[in-house]
Amino acid sequence: LFVVFEGGEGAGKSTQLALLADRLRDNGREVVVTREPGATAVGERIRSLLLGQPGSDAPSPRAEALLYAADRAHHVATVVRPALVRGAVVASDRYVDSSLAYQGAGRTLPVDEVSWLSSWATGGLKPDLVVLLDVEPRTGLSRVAERTEGPDRLEAESVTFHERVRYAFLDLAANDPKRYLVLDASLPAEELARLVAARVEGMLGA
Ligand code: C5P
Repeated sequence: LFVVFEGGEGAGKSTQLALLADRLRDNGREVVVTREPGATAVGERIRSLLLGQPGSDAPSPRAEALLYAADRAHHVATVVRPALVRGAVVASDRYVDSSLAYQGAGRTLPVDEVSWLSSWATGGLKPDLVVLLDVEPRTGLSRVAERTEGPDRLEAESVTFHERVRYAFLDLAANDPKRYLVLDASLPAEELARLVAARVEGMLGA
C-alpha cells in the first residue's frame, strides 16, 4: 500500500507520518517512511540544489521541475517500488501532487506538462491514498516560522504563491475523491492520526 501525505508548509505531515508508521508497526506491518525531495543519497544532493541556494542562484522554474522529477524517478526506482514489491506499506512525505501544486500552480508551469513529466519519472506509479492536510497558508507559515532553522527558499515565497498551491491540492482531491482523505490540519494531532489510521487500516483490511 502506497500512502502519500501532501499539504502546504507547516501542515504537520511529518508528525502524521510518524504517528501512522508507529501504529502500523505496532500491528506488525513493515512500514517504509520516506520523503521527497531527498530520501536517497542522490536525492539529498538534488534537495540541496533545490532548497539550499540563495534566491539569486535558485534554479529556473523548468530546471526546478526537472530536478524534482529526477529526485522522484530515483526515489521510486530505488525505494518505493522495491518496498511495495516486498509488501511493505510505503508512507511518503510529498509525491507527484506537490509538483503539480508547487511547480505547476505555484510557478505557473502548465500543469498537464508537469503531470506528464511526473508520470514519465515514476513509470506511472500512483499512490493508493493521498492524505491532504489542508492548512491556510498564513497559519502554516507561522507554524514554520516557529522552527529554529528559519524558512527555506520556498517558505519565503509570497502568501499568494502558497494560496495557489493550496487550491491546487484541493482541486486535485476534488477531481479524484476516492483516492483522497482531505483533513483540516488545524485539528488536534491525535484526532488527525485517528482519522488517518481508520482509513489506512480499512484499506489494509486490518
Ligand atoms: O516538505 P518539506 O518541507 O521537506 O519540503 C521542502 C520544500 O520544498 C518546501 O518548502 C516545499 O514547498 C518545497 N517543494 C516544492 N515542490 C515539490 C516538493 C517540495 O516546491 N515538488
